[in-house]
Amino acid sequence: MMITKEAIESTLSEYIQRFVPAMHQWRYHLILAKGGPDYPHLPEQSHLAHIINGVFGLTQLVKFLIVRSVHVPGLDEGAFRKALALYTVHEVHKDKDVELLGSSQFSIPLERLLKEYERLGLHKFVEVDEHLMRAANVHKRSPKHGDLLLSTEPSASRLWLLVRLADTFASVKTPEEALNSLKGYLADLGPAFALKRPPGRYALYYHELKDVRGVLTNMIHRAVAQQLAEEWDFYPLLYFATGTLYLGPSRLDGNAADGLIPAIAGRVLQSLTQGGGADAIRDGLRRQKFDFERYVYAFAMVEDLLRVVRDETLSAKPDARIALKEIDGLVAKRQELTAKWRETVEERFGIRLLDPKEHKTFNELWSQVRRYLLYVDTLLRDLNPAETRLEWFLRTFSLPPDVANHLRQEADIWVRGGVGKYVLVIAYHFLRGPDFADRPAEATPPEQVLERLHRRVLEAFRQVDTQVGRQAAVAELGLRQDLEAYLAEHLYLSFAPASQLADDGLTSYASPKRKGHTGQLCSICNRHSKYVRPLRAGILDDFGRVFSNRVLPAREAPQGNRLWCPICQLEFIFRKLLGMGLPSGAHYRNSRRIYLYILPTFSFTPEHLRLFRPLLDQFGRVTNLPVRDYGKDAPGAPRLWLERREFDPYWVEDLMEVLDRQAAWIAERGGRSYVGERLHTGPIRAEPHYYLIVWEKAARDQERDDTRIATRTEAWAKALFAAAVISGLTSCKVYVTERPYLPVADPADLKATITLDSPPPALRGLLGGRTDVVSLYGRERDGRSGLETVLDLSAALWTVTAGLRPGKDKDIAGRLGRLNADPLAGAFFYKEYGRENDGQSPYSPFDVACEVLLNIQGGEMMDLVERIASKSLEIALPRGATRRGKARRYELVFREAVSAMRKAQQMIPEMREAAIGGRRPSEQSIAELKRLTAGTLLKGLERRQVSGRGEIFIRAWGDELGRLVGEFIDILVDEVYLGRAGGSFARFLRLENSLADGIYYYTDRNLSRLWEEHKQQKVASEAA
Ligand SMILES: [Zn+2]
Repeated sequence: MMITKEAIESTLSEYIQRFVPAMHQWRYHLILAKGGPDYPHLPEQSHLAHIINGVFGLTQLVKFLIVRSVHVPGLDEGAFRKALALYTVHEVHKDKDVELLGSSQFSIPLERLLKEYERLGLHKFVEVDEHLMRAANVHKRSPKHGDLLLSTEPSASRLWLLVRLADTFASVKTPEEALNSLKGYLADLGPAFALKRPPGRYALYYHELKDVRGVLTNMIHRAVAQQLAEEWDFYPLLYFATGTLYLGPSRLDGNAADGLIPAIAGRVLQSLTQGGGADAIRDGLRRQKFDFERYVYAFAMVEDLLRVVRDETLSAKPDARIALKEIDGLVAKRQELTAKWRETVEERFGIRLLDPKEHKTFNELWSQVRRYLLYVDTLLRDLNPAETRLEWFLRTFSLPPDVANHLRQEADIWVRGGVGKYVLVIAYHFLRGPDFADRPAEATPPEQVLERLHRRVLEAFRQVDTQVGRQAAVAELGLRQDLEAYLAEHLYLSFAPASQLADDGLTSYASPKRKGHTGQLCSICNRHSKYVRPLRAGILDDFGRVFSNRVLPAREAPQGNRLWCPICQLEFIFRKLLGMGLPSGAHYRNSRRIYLYILPTFSFTPEHLRLFRPLLDQFGRVTNLPVRDYGKDAPGAPRLWLERREFDPYWVEDLMEVLDRQAAWIAERGGRSYVGERLHTGPIRAEPHYYLIVWEKAARDQERDDTRIATRTEAWAKALFAAAVISGLTSCKVYVTERPYLPVADPADLKATITLDSPPPALRGLLGGRTDVVSLYGRERDGRSGLETVLDLSAALWTVTAGLRPGKDKDIAGRLGRLNADPLAGAFFYKEYGRENDGQSPYSPFDVACEVLLNIQGGEMMDLVERIASKSLEIALPRGATRRGKARRYELVFREAVSAMRKAQQMIPEMREAAIGGRRPSEQSIAELKRLTAGTLLKGLERRQVSGRGEIFIRAWGDELGRLVGEFIDILVDEVYLGRAGGSFARFLRLENSLADGIYYYTDRNLSRLWEEHKQQKVASEAA
């Protein structure tokens, strides 16, 4: 009995529905299966990614078996279920909680395996033999493999093989490694995959392109896969960031790679013409010349171009005087035009120059129709150079014969200077012609007039061959030639020697030679190309002369725009086409953008979309991750995180609601054309090698509100937060960069879960000391994962930033500065809040934010603070936890002690000398310092006690008070002055304010509890 595709689909759906949440619940996404300090040679991969990738890889293989009718004995739905279930617990031996039975790491107690099996709920999915469960944990087949023999499962060794296959799918990092590691297991699976003599029907292949740019690279991968599938019946198994692993026929024609490169290039260029790309067309419009930049012809069809012209014309301001201006302009410029010519112009061309004011409506329509037709004229010129344009117009608009003849006679008068001014006459006859026989043009709304014109022109264009002109335009740009050269240079096919492909590319590359440009350097990607040309800022969405992210500062071109190669140009045309460019209302001058490359750990399959789709769809709609609350019902991401600090299914659900809410909000404000802060991606495809998500804060050229223009630190802090959220949700590797391509040779070498490409140094506070990576590692040594720590710090800092003054997003920079310099920054912010709000304690989650910062950063300093503060509170309790002057009351004992120490230090000559010479004072003088300080402090406290009023309530009397004060001074002198400050009095005094912040924080968090305890003690002692 063979398994069916339907059975696979439903089993997989069930698996995902049940076990992805279960794995989230047991933190599989926050624990490393590979990489981290325990496996430093490997890139990081979460336990969740490891399981999911194996399950999906195995599924992809079984689908191949079904599609190609390859029979594998015993592979039915039951076996598939068992294989998935066994694979899910195949890594339990790596769990640090497991106590192994013998010396081998695979001697796992069966109870532990059973416990994991049930904890995930797998026993409700399928029952398996427990010996088999342990066998699945063993990687190598060995004679000691007793569990396979002990198992009562008849197909035990086949199930073991399927688990090994899944494990290999999950573990291979490159297509090449995949081919080498999988072929042996596949050969074991059946004769169809036999390796030699005679080889089986199928073999493994791969293609690779080690250059990750953005949209173009995915387009190329797709084109290669399509070509190989259609020509050679290849079936894709795994998608890596740099290539694809396939199963294909084991016998390939020796010339399999012939003609491959031109075919792939053709497919890529073909995909340019899918979809209208109105934004990209509009960016290519040249309003002074009434035509388009040549690159537009590479992707836009005539219909799309004319639609943009129609819409542009409707939105442009009409000019009622245009006809008079044109005619008088001609007379002024051309000396041969006599007064007679001017007098008879209306008669000869059958037009009437009506008074612009009196006949405003008609004259404005005339100017609009003329404008539209000027573009039609240049389109004809560019796309069908063989056509005589005037004749085409005369034909299309059926002008009266005598008018037509006059125009023919005077043709060169009207076209001098390149612009087809004769369309003025054509436009008049259109407006007075048969299209408006029933109702005059003046009585028809401009939209309808333009629509009639548009339809008529479109119909006429159907007879025009635009292919020739289009191809010539594209050839001049060198898109095809350069793409072929690029493919010959970068594309690797496992079945074709590199030279074979290179030859392929050379034939077409060698033919068209252009003067002057023999292989110049592209200023964006550093490639050499014959076709480099000045870049167009409108496509790049960045400065043409200088590159704002300073990739190559030396290469700015002062006298003009920098150069770029067709490959880079193609990349940005694709981005425009897919709606990934800046919104049309924004200007790159004021906009900031950071790219997030979502890379597989280590490979994707089409099944991965089952997990990613809900998240990616939000980005596809254009959304944002707000860093502050917008009212009670619209919490920001930091609040949501700080409320529970758990990366579990509840957080995922809450977060999706936020993304959904933001997407709806942005949709109401224009969606893709919304100018503001946004996170977005292009269309989501099922054959992914990586995803490109853009964080950007788009702003208008004239923007005056500086909160709408992101600073670099603000942008990076937000992008980091987004990267941590996305990485946690997808278990993918994320690369964050301002550059428009991935500046690493091979993404498989990236080890960390998140890598940042040259972030501002201020960000190190969020990265826990490291400067440019986030590791998932942490839970393995009973801490929080690196990802959770970044979320903690980010959420806390954004909360603090929004809650203090000044509280704009860009003020994150100042808060980061504090965090980087002060381990007690959390306490500083906490106290700052009280200072700004008449001594009030912060609301939640501001207080949580401070606590989180102190927990992560406070370390020894916070321990010290707690000892000082709790001793101080044993001595005295401040009265009242609100109102102004709160800080003074909270810090009073500490401040008085420091001031007493300062006085005492001045009174001991040896202390003074030691301070100047930087020496450590003697034991004797330290004892003297303590005695004097304690005396002063005690005296002050006793005075307050006698008066019975004031800011603090002193809890002890007489000897007891003396003892407590002594202990307090011991801490200050021994641990702060001699310990932390290393015996330097100056350094000790510099610590004062920071410690006072900590004491303020500790006191505010504990005071009401202490007062409560005090009152209870009092009641108890009175009762006794
Ligand atoms: Zn380039």
